[in-house]
Amino acid sequence: MKLPFALAKRFVAGEDFPQAVPKVADLNEAGIKVTLDLLGENVKDRKTADDTLTHYIELLEGIHEQKIDSSISIKLTMLGLDIDESYCKDNLFKLLDVAKKQNQFVRLDMEGTDYTQVTIDIFKEAYKKYGKHVGIVIQAYLHRTKQDIEDLAEIGADVRLCKGAYNEPERLALQKMPAIQEAYKEYAKVLLEKTPYPRMATHDSELIEWIKNYTTENGIGSSRFEFQMLYGMRLETCKELAQQGYNVRVYVPYGTMWFPYFTRRLKERKENIWFVLSTMFKK
Ligand SMILES: Cc1cc2nc3c(=O)[nH]c(=O)nc-3n(C[C@H](O)[C@H](O)[C@H](O)COP(=O)(O)OP(=O)(O)OC[C@H]3O[C@@H](n4cnc5c(N)ncnc54)[C@H](O)[C@@H]3O)c2cc1C
Repeated sequence: MKLPFALAKRFVAGEDFPQAVPKVADLNEAGIKVTLDLLGENVKDRKTADDTLTHYIELLEGIHEQKIDSSISIKLTMLGLDIDESYCKDNLFKLLDVAKKQNQFVRLDMEGTDYTQVTIDIFKEAYKKYGKHVGIVIQAYLHRTKQDIEDLAEIGADVRLCKGAYNEPERLALQKMPAIQEAYKEYAKVLLEKTPYPRMATHDSELIEWIKNYTTENGIGSSRFEFQMLYGMRLETCKELAQQGYNVRVYVPYGTMWFPYFTRRLKERKENIWFVLSTMFKK
């Protein structure tokens, strides 16, 4: 059954790139940068992975043509990671060749724990070859992150730090919010100390306040890092942060394959369910 897009439109900017462009332009107008994400995950055949690569390349070209301020985020499972690792890496490198030529930036989103190690391995290879044009995401809730953060900070990688959105068992991930928040703070400190420009992805007021206070108290300027939030969430806070002189980026997903992304947002926060239900009753 195809669900109506009206359900998702609070969190998804459109079903294709042209629909997303005006939303990106509005955010840019408010002093907010964007990262565009073509929705989808776990591609199982080469034809679809090849088509996705073409789409990502067209997206980089579209961003350039439309003169919008946006990087892109991708998922390695969209480029064929479930089919074959070296095929996926070749696809990523083809995309990064274009990104480098256009002075663009591609971030590898982090997926579930089946993919953590391979994503880090592929990122490290890509980083050696493409440097500032590629970044990665690290999830604070994973026990392994303590070591991963140290390793990535050591090479000065461009890291987006988030809590983690997938259901993971206790042996792999912290389960309680206070423990996840403490871990987030610990890793944020490492990134702020050792990497040039960490990205703090969270809507959590406690963490946002903590980052503001910690950086002020430690003489870390607001130009040394950025806040990141998801499209459809806390827009007023994004605007306030931008007005206060912080760098802010909104992650803007688009595409027809919005269902898994949409359900992750609903599970995270019961208020999100109310947002969706209320849009169903609005014209
Ligand atoms: C830019 C970005 C990129 C991401 N990329 C990835 C990725 O690659 N891989 C991955 O696994 N996960 C990713 N995530 C998701 C992330 O891991 C979390 O699942 C998600 O951000 C929820 O955690 P949170 O810290 O934002 O807030 P939550 O833990 O959902 O909320 C904590 C507190 O924040 C406040 N809050 C939250 N939302 C609102 C709101 N709308 N209005 C008011 N207060 C609010 C409330 O005080 C709430 O109690 C990404 C998140 C962002 C923002």
